[in-house]
Order: sequence, then structure tokens, then C-alpha cells
Amino acid sequence: MGWWQEHKWQRWQARHPLPDAAWRNVHANLPLLAGLSEPMLARLGVRSWRVLFELRLSLPRELEWSIEAHLELAAQIALMSLGWSDHQALASLGDTREIIVVPGAFRRHVQELDDFGVMHEFDDERAGETSWGGPVVLSLEDIERSGDWHGFNVIIHEFAHKLDMTGNMAVDGQPALPAHIDPKTWYDTFMRAWDALQDTLERGEVPAIDEYAATHPSEFFAVCCEYFFSAPDLLEGVWPDLYALLVRYFGQNPLERHRLVPEHSRVTTPLG
Ligand SMILES: [Zn+2]
Repeated sequence: MGWWQEHKWQRWQARHPLPDAAWRNVHANLPLLAGLSEPMLARLGVRSWRVLFELRLSLPRELEWSIEAHLELAAQIALMSLGWSDHQALASLGDTREIIVVPGAFRRHVQELDDFGVMHEFDDERAGETSWGGPVVLSLEDIERSGDWHGFNVIIHEFAHKLDMTGNMAVDGQPALPAHIDPKTWYDTFMRAWDALQDTLERGEVPAIDEYAATHPSEFFAVCCEYFFSAPDLLEGVWPDLYALLVRYFGQNPLERHRLVPEHSRVTTPLG
């Protein structure tokens, strides 16, 4: 980061001080933040606060969120880029300008032409949705299910799609990669795991990770990110190479935090 960017960042911080008491409540209540060191928690607090200034949050009309609830949501976004510089973390939000929270999982009627020109129609139920240049849509029900160490996190899932869109517009499971990661290594590692998952399903066996990952390479990447941050032991156990690659990509190792978290505090706490 150039000195002027650092200067801009520091000026922003001076003008927008983090509400410390609210932030203390957030990290005491959000299991996913357990095991972070004091300096990392402080960094995450400032960045979460910044996320709330960068992104517009649209809530259902009847819903009133405390400042803690806002920060809990933002903290799960900021956690993903915690291993990156302030500048890279801001840049990782990409074209995202808005988060829309809807009450429950939403259904939509989809019409899709297949390769043979046959029209398929189906109802699709989703916990969240992300499109290029568009807002991130999250269901409240699924936000409330996120934040623990159980491998599900709709916030991380949808923002992983936004990362996927960095570098090029394609949503193909390959985000813009830092210079220290060879794109071929990325491709090979993800393809091996993808093939293994497809084989497991073809044999009729129950896969170790959510089988939704098998629907598209972009979903595979997003689901792997969910496990990376919220069930790193499971992901590392199934695909150690892929886990190690994500450690290099994200510049952090959630398994180190996970080991410090006592079993009883790995459960979710609903948003206030
Ligand atoms: Zn998805």
C-alpha cells in the first residue's frame, strides 16, 4: 500500500472511531471470532466498521438491528480478508455497493435453455444471491444460522462469489490470484477435489461437504470457503492440499483459531 493510501486510511479511522463497547459485545458473542489475537481483533473491528460505511445495508421494513447486529454481519465479511493489507481488504469488496437482507430463503422461478435447446423450468430456493455488479442478497434466516463453527455461513458463501468475480468477470471458482500462487496449481488442486466429490456422488456415497458444492465450480469454491472459515478441521481432513492452498490465498489459517476454541463455545448465537 502506498503512503498516501495509508494516510487516507488513517484519516478515515480518526474521523470514524469504532464504537468499542459494541465491538466488545460482538467478539464476545460471535463464536467464529474466537481464537483471534488481540491485534487481529482490533484490526477486524476497524475493518468491520469500515465495511458498514462502504456498503449500504437494506433491511426488511419491520426489522430493527442493533449496532452489534450490523457489526456481526460486517465482521464475517471482513474476516475473509483479515490476512490481507487494508488496501487489499477494501479492494476485495470489488463492485459490491449494497447488501439486501430478505426475511427468509427466497424462491424464484427459473427458465433455462439446455445445450439441446430444451427449456427447463424449476423453482429454485436460495439462502443468498450474488451477481456481477449487483447487490449481495442474504436471507435473514440464514444470517442467523451463520457465525458458528459448523461449516455453514451464507455471508462467507456469497462474498466468496464476489471474490470469484475479481480479476475477470467469470464466475468459475478462480478469483484473481496473488503473484505467489500459480494459476495452474490453483486449477489442478481444485479440479482434483472437484473430481473426487463428483466420484463420491456417482458412487451414491454421502460426501463430507455439502453436495451443493458439486453443482458448479463457482459453488464448489464458495462452499469450500464456508468450510475453510467455519469448519477448517473438516476441510483440512478431506483435502489437505486444497486447505493449504486456501491458507496461502487468504493469508490466514483458521485451523489455528479453531484449535483454541473450546467445544462448548462453537455453537451459534442469534443476532441481537
Ligand atoms: Zn452460491
